[in-house]
Amino acid sequence: MTSLNKEACADSKLQILNYQIRGCNRCTLAQGRIQAVPGSGDPTTRLMVVGEAPGYEEDKQGLPFVGRSGDLLNKGLLAAGLKRENIYITNVLKCRPPENRDPLPTEVQACRKYLYQQISLISPQLILTLGRVSSSYLLEREIKITKERGRLEFLPANPNILVSIIYHPSYVLRNRNTQIERDFFHDILQARSIVYGKSATTELLEGSAG
Ligand code: URA
Repeated sequence: MTSLNKEACADSKLQILNYQIRGCNRCTLAQGRIQAVPGSGDPTTRLMVVGEAPGYEEDKQGLPFVGRSGDLLNKGLLAAGLKRENIYITNVLKCRPPENRDPLPTEVQACRKYLYQQISLISPQLILTLGRVSSSYLLEREIKITKERGRLEFLPANPNILVSIIYHPSYVLRNRNTQIERDFFHDILQARSIVYGKSATTELLEGSAG
């Protein structure tokens, strides 16, 4: 199979998977959602972003990171020369927990196969994990985010993929104009440099990032 065919095949498999996610009833969150939020972006990207779970706006629109946290994430990406449509953004949970509470272990377990299948189909070079929940989940150990942000590790489930631990934008929103915000911007830039090199900004913003 040529690499173009491989990409088209991964893309259609991802579309089928995301269709299954939209109809998922594997846990009780299905009853309270407006809609599931599988993820969005470029399925051929080298860079994935994984957050915690959809919030109010995401549940309404069916897209990840479209509320205030999303605005800040977009800003961080743009400052690093990245557009969200050139990467792939998703969450550990695909449905909104009530009152945006932390995901329960049973919900995370029910959703597990979806995120891992997305990772396997997209096959990114690097995953940015936003905050404690997604970092701990993908790295399979308890992460102390204030101590470990900025660190890079290999994904235990697939050591070809790097994981970069960064702050969750909602935490940054509560700490505007502080070192926390500077670290958040710095860590996105670091990931961009690893994946695309230091001088790729113009090319990325023109939309040819793969
Ligand atoms: N929106 C998302 O899609 N995920 C989060 O973790 C927070 C807000």
